[in-house]
Formats: sequence, structure tokens, C-alpha cells
Amino acid sequence: MKRLSLQWRITLMTVLLIGVTCVAMKLLLCSSGIGYMDAIGQFVQARSGGAGAETSAFIRETQEDFCMTNWYMTAGVTLLGGVLAYFVSGRALRPLRRFAAQVEQVQLTNLAEIKIDEDLLPEFRQLSRSFNQMLERLSRAFETQRQFTGNAAHELRTPLALMQAQLELFAAEHPEVLPETAEFLGLLREQTERLSQLSQTLLEMNSLQSAPRTDRIQLGPMIEEIFTDLAPLAEQRGIALEREGDATMTGSDPLLYRMLFNLTENAIKYNRPGGMVGVAVAREESGLQIRIADTGCGIPEAYQHSIFHPFFRVDKSRSREYGGVGLGLSLVWEIAALHGGSVWVEKSSEEGTTIAVRFPPQAVLSADG
Ligand code: ADP
Repeated sequence: MKRLSLQWRITLMTVLLIGVTCVAMKLLLCSSGIGYMDAIGQFVQARSGGAGAETSAFIRETQEDFCMTNWYMTAGVTLLGGVLAYFVSGRALRPLRRFAAQVEQVQLTNLAEIKIDEDLLPEFRQLSRSFNQMLERLSRAFETQRQFTGNAAHELRTPLALMQAQLELFAAEHPEVLPETAEFLGLLREQTERLSQLSQTLLEMNSLQSAPRTDRIQLGPMIEEIFTDLAPLAEQRGIALEREGDATMTGSDPLLYRMLFNLTENAIKYNRPGGMVGVAVAREESGLQIRIADTGCGIPEAYQHSIFHPFFRVDKSRSREYGGVGLGLSLVWEIAALHGGSVWVEKSSEEGTTIAVRFPPQAVLSADG
């Protein structure tokens, strides 16, 4: 019973109710009908003054027929009631389905804009109103959190830039320092660089919502540009970069660039020396698919969801080696969601990883490949 939909539950309960009522009606009708028929039989026998056995046999037969017909009618009415109950409950539950469909549209990225329709049945009006109030509270809480992160990241930028500049200056003015001092300076520069990257990424994540997403973007040239920017890193590791397919879509140019850059950079960073990275764009039935494939060591299955969480790193030492703080894929996830898309690990093994991004058909203007 627990697995049955509400519509089926209402139908079954109605069938039970109609069935019990019909059976009770049938029993009452039969007992009173049989009583009346007996009375008519006695009257006819008294009047005719003979042929008693024939009349009683006829009356008994008629009574049996009457009861049987009543059973058929009971079953028919119950069945018809059940069919009607199924369709009527389906109609009655429509507002609930509409409500569920609207709730499904709620995403982290549209909390501030979305509103559940309050013009529903009185029973649902209160529910919709409470739901909208909850959305408002959530949206305000996220906004406060965003402002705090943005302000903190912004405030960190100036002292960090100052520290970096001072360290560079010191290193330039004192080229011949003790090896321990040089090592210490190197560590300081590395860490301040990491911190400024972190504050930069936090600022970028913070301004995602306000970025206009109306640019016309040709993905092929964008991927080529990313390959050019990442060529020094790829060359250093002997990694070949390949591109396949092209498409034009609408969205935010800087954000999509950042998304594809992060994915390609990871595919190079977490690859084996002399490996390969392929970025393929293809138009599919479900929309636009971009696949970033590498020949790296793979991502264990247990972490394939967590890598999109902020600050998550599978191999901390390797990630740190490249200045990673674990925010790259979280930014990728947010950018994809902001464009109505999604990102996931399509396959991963010791031979390599393929990360796929999908955008809805509405985002695609044209595709080739
Ligand atoms: P990071 O700044 O550490 O690179 P990301 O958010 O970009 O952070 O990635 C999170 C973690 O996911 C990385 O630390 C790495 O362990 C893992 N990862 C990401 N991309 C790949 C890949 N293509 N192959 C293997 N591991 C990956």
C-alpha cells in the first residue's frame, strides 16, 4: 500500500466504500424483495385455489433470478464507481502535481527569482505561501553568506598583493641570501600566491549570479584559446591536446571560458607524463555535450561526486603541487548549473577520466560535429 500513488489509494478507498454500500443495499433489497414476492405468491395461490406447487416453484425461481441480477448490478456499479473515482481523483490531484512541478524548478541558482503560484485551491494556498516564505528566508541567508565571502575575499586581496610585492622586492634586492632564507622566502611566496588565487576564485564564485549570460559563444575557437593558454603547462608535461567538434551557444563568455579552462587544466595536471587530453563538443538529443577526456590515473568511484564539492581534493599533495585549493571543480559545477546544465564524471579508470558537461537544447544556437 505504501508504494501506491495517492490517485490509486483514493480509487481503492472509493471502490471499497461503494462496494460495501452496494452489498448492504443488495442484501436489504433482496430480503425485502423476497418477502414481497412470497406475499404475492400466497395471495395468488389463495385466489386460484390450486396449482400451488407450480406457483411456488415459479416464485422461487424468480427470487433466485432477482438475487443474481442484484449481485451483477452490485459488481457493475462498484466497478464503474472505481473507474470514475480514478479519473475524478486524477483531476482533483492536478493542483498537487502542479505544485510539485514548480517545486522541482527550485535551484540554488534561482532562489531569489522563483515563486510558487499561490493562486491554487484553498488547501494548497497556505502550503504555497509557507513555501514561498521559506524560499525568501533561504535566499536572504545565501545572499548574506555570499556578501560575507565576497567582502572577506576582497579585503584579503590588498594585503596579499602587498605581501607578494614586498617578497618579490626582497628577493630581487637580496639575491645572495643563505640557502635556508631562500627556501623560507620561496615557501612564503608560494603560500601567498596560493592565498591570492584562493581569494580570486572566491571573488569569481561570488560574482557568478550577476554575470550576464547572453553572449553568443563559439566553442571551437574558445577551446583553441584555452589550449594556447595551457600550452606551457602541457608542454612541460609532454601532454598532447586535441579538439573535436564545434557548436555555438548562448551564455556568459568569461564564465564558460573559466569552466572549460578549469576542466582542461585538471585533465593536464592529473595526467601521466606524455599523456593525452581530448575536448569533444557534440550535439545530442538531450542538448549539447562537452567531454573532456584524459589519460591520467583516474578518480576513485567513491570520490566522483565529492570532487565537485568546495575544497575537496583526492590527492592533497599533488593538488598543492599545482597550487590547487580544491575550488576549481566546484566553480565548474556552479557555472554549468547557472547555464541550466550539469557536470559529472562520465567514466574513470586507471586508464583515464572523462568528465562530461551537458547544456539544455535551448542554450544551443548551432552545432557542427
Ligand atoms: P584542485 O584545485 O585541487 O585541482 P579541483 O576542484 O579542480 O581542485 O579538483 C578537485 C580534485 O579532483 C583534485 O584535487 C583532484 O584530486 C581531482 N581531479 C579533478 N580532475 C581530475 C582528473 N581529470 N583526473 C583525476 N583527478 C582529478
